[in-house]
Parts: sequence; structure tokens; C-alpha cells
Amino acid sequence: MKMDSRITVTSPLLPDLDEFHEMLKDIWASKWITNNGSFHKKLEAALAEYLKVPYISLFTNGTLPLLTALQALRITGEVITTPYSFVATTHAIWWNGCRPVFVDIDPATGNIDPDRIEAAITPRTTAILPVHVYGNPCDTKRIQMIADKYGLKVIYDAAHAFGVEVEGESLLNAGDLSTLSFHATKVFNTIEGGAMVMHDAEMKKRIDYLKNFGFANEVEVVGPGINSKMDEMRSAYGLLNLKQVDAAIEARRQVALRYREALKDVEGITFFQDLPGVRHNYSYFPIFVEADKYGMTRDELYFKMKEKGVLGRRYFYPLISSFSTYKGLPSAAKENLPQAHKMAESVICLPMHHGLNDEDISRVLEMIVE
Ligand SMILES: *Cc1c(COP(=O)(O)O)cnc(C)c1O
Repeated sequence: MKMDSRITVTSPLLPDLDEFHEMLKDIWASKWITNNGSFHKKLEAALAEYLKVPYISLFTNGTLPLLTALQALRITGEVITTPYSFVATTHAIWWNGCRPVFVDIDPATGNIDPDRIEAAITPRTTAILPVHVYGNPCDTKRIQMIADKYGLKVIYDAAHAFGVEVEGESLLNAGDLSTLSFHATKVFNTIEGGAMVMHDAEMKKRIDYLKNFGFANEVEVVGPGINSKMDEMRSAYGLLNLKQVDAAIEARRQVALRYREALKDVEGITFFQDLPGVRHNYSYFPIFVEADKYGMTRDELYFKMKEKGVLGRRYFYPLISSFSTYKGLPSAAKENLPQAHKMAESVICLPMHHGLNDEDISRVLEMIVE
């Protein structure tokens, strides 16, 4: 199998090299390469505008804003979360010395099921950490009502939700804080990178201190901070990618439309539709394989695709609650998470990125439609 005949599940959005070179020349001339330089400031301003959020703080990846959000809100005790995510979501809870409490998901979205949250609340619960999985919006109104009733904080892992809007409003404004990842595999990337979205200037100041060791000025450290600053090169790279992200999302939408049209009559294969009033970002295209109807198991299809150079991903399998670190938790019991197990055992994320051409899409579909 030739390397270049493989169709990968994702492909990074890359800036124009000449434009990037021009920006690098500016950075070299200024000799300011990190610590809130001019490209860092420009990217924060441009992202706040693009994402329709009041305040945003850049981070060096998408995991550190999760860790820092829990720190900033002084979360302790138990945190209610979803097992159906990338493992960093639960790691952030653990690294803060808190106990993750897994709640099952709603099969209609893949997100934490609001109907099951209240039953998981104990006197030690202090926060809810949901994920907008695949960019599908959580039921943020219901979750906020529950949080308000019990005095809980809400932090959204919005790593998949770059640019997602509900009724014209950014999904990132829900909850107390939201975090983003700008990793190479995401819709918008700065190679490695991430951000946190907050509601007010006071919180932004606090977060900006925390991501720079807690320094408020040259001589004052106001808290036990961390180092999670984004440098000037990746900020410049991000500014250039932001100019092309709408075109990339539109290209992804076209891929999703082709997939849906071709798969709509395939027995045993299901997928998500666009939700009314939602601007989706098409960050992933998960399909769900029902083995008895489709005539092949998920893994049989997955490995058949792989053999032919069509690389899907089983996101999210195994569940976070199945990893050795977490499987001993009472809430990790399989009986507690039937819908999450069902989804994890049936999912394949198909190749989904801006660079797929007609031939690639046909090759992916050939694998599934016999
Ligand atoms: C990618 C991702 C992260 C971690 O982001 P990094 O930038 O890789 O640190 C966290 N949560 C979810 C749901 C993710 O998909």
C-alpha cells in the first residue's frame, strides 16, 4: 500500500506558506517571540470577534485550559462528566484531585443525558463538566437549570465546538467557562493550541495570570499558576488559518452532505442530521453500525476500511470509564452507562476534512455501500 493512497480521517488546515513567511519576518524583526506579543493579542481579538464571545484567553493546548478552569473555579470533591469523550476531559478532573462521576449519554447527540444528572449529585458534587461531542450542542439550558438548583459550576469541554452557534449565538457562551482545543486534528488549528472562553474581564485577568505562573506583575504571584502561554509563531499561524476556516467548514459540510445522501438507505448504518437552528462545524462524521442489520460488525468494517487504506477512527472507543485508571470508580460500572457503551461499540468516524476530493469520498463510500 502506497502511503499517498491512504485517506486519513483528518488533515490539518495549513496557512499559506508565503504569508506565514512574511509574518515570521515581522516576528524576527521584533525579537518578541512569546509572552503576550502582538500576534498573540491580535489572535485573541480576532477569535473573540469570529466566535462571538466577550473574552477569550489563548493556551498552549486544549488540555491545560481544562485543568486551569477547574483550578480557577476552585472545584473540589466530585465532578459530574461524560465517559464518551477524549480522555483529557476526565484527566483534567483527576489532576485537580477531584473524583470524576460518569453519567450516561443521550444517544440522540452523544452528549451527557441531562435526565440522569440529578441522580448523580451528592453533597460532594461541585461542578458539571460536559462535552459538546462532535460539535453537537449539549442541552445547555437544562444543564444550567440543574446547576443553579444545586449551586454547581459548569465547565464545557468545547474542543469539538469551534464556531458552533445555536440560534445565532455562540455555544461557547454557555456555562461558567468553556475550553477549546486548536490541535492539528481539529477544525481550527494552531498546530498545538487551545483557549478558554469567559464572561467577564475580571475572570480573563485571573486566567491570564494563572497561565503565566500566577504572575500579576514583576514582583507579585497571586496564585499557584502554570505555564500555558501560546507563542508568537503559533499565534501568527492561527491568524492566517482563521481567514480560511469558514471555507474549510463549508468544504466539510459538502462532504457531510455527500456522505448522508449515499448512506441514507444503507440498512444498519445511522448518523446524525443537522439540528434545527444550529450552525454546525462538521468537525467529525460518525456513523453507527448495527451489526445484525448491516451484516458486518463495526470492527469488521473498520478493519476492512483500514486494509484498503481508508482510515476511520473509533472515536470514542474505549470509553474513558473503561481505561484502567478509571474503571474502578463506582460510576464506571457498565450497567450505569448502557448508552455510552452502545455508542462506543458501534461508532466509526469517517474521514472528514476540507481536503477530501470527489474521488476520496467515493472511495470511502465504496467501503460501506456494497
Ligand atoms: C482534542 C481534545 C482535547 C485535548 O486537546 P489538546 O489540544 O489535544 O490538549 C480535550 N477534549 C476533547 C473532547 C478533545 O477532543
